[in-house]
Amino acid sequence: MRNLIHALAQHLHRYRRLRIAGSLAGVLWALPLSLPGLLLALPVRMMHGRIERLTGSVPALLVRGPLADWLLARHPFGPMAAMAVGHIVIARRHGLTSQTLRHELAHVRQAALWGAAFPLAYLAASAWALLHGRQAYWHNHFEIAARKAEQHFPSE
Ligand SMILES: [Zn+2]
Repeated sequence: MRNLIHALAQHLHRYRRLRIAGSLAGVLWALPLSLPGLLLALPVRMMHGRIERLTGSVPALLVRGPLADWLLARHPFGPMAAMAVGHIVIARRHGLTSQTLRHELAHVRQAALWGAAFPLAYLAASAWALLHGRQAYWHNHFEIAARKAEQHFPSE
């Protein structure tokens, strides 16, 4: 029994190390996307904003401040509560729900998986939806997946 527990503990330890290595690979892989996100985050931080580090299913930085509020209210697709740019989540100071955060973290995971190809894949998914007579945003595969993630609580 003790051996079994020891083996299990070792397995979990290895799994954790693999997860950390996987997260790090995801961060590096999505760096071409996160860099523009950081370029947005810096002026938000400098203008009375704050940056919080999120740890959980995926590492991310949560950036909020008056400038983020202003930018999100003027998003080209309409006013947004938050948006993810690589591993950077830019959100409004007020009214950020855990549901919205889970949605954006799903986009962070997508960016970690697709890396620099993510914007292209996202646009292709919108084009695919349009070709099938559906809405580019609402029926985008990545948006559907992110909406599903809103309801789930990924394991820590
Ligand atoms: Zn979305």
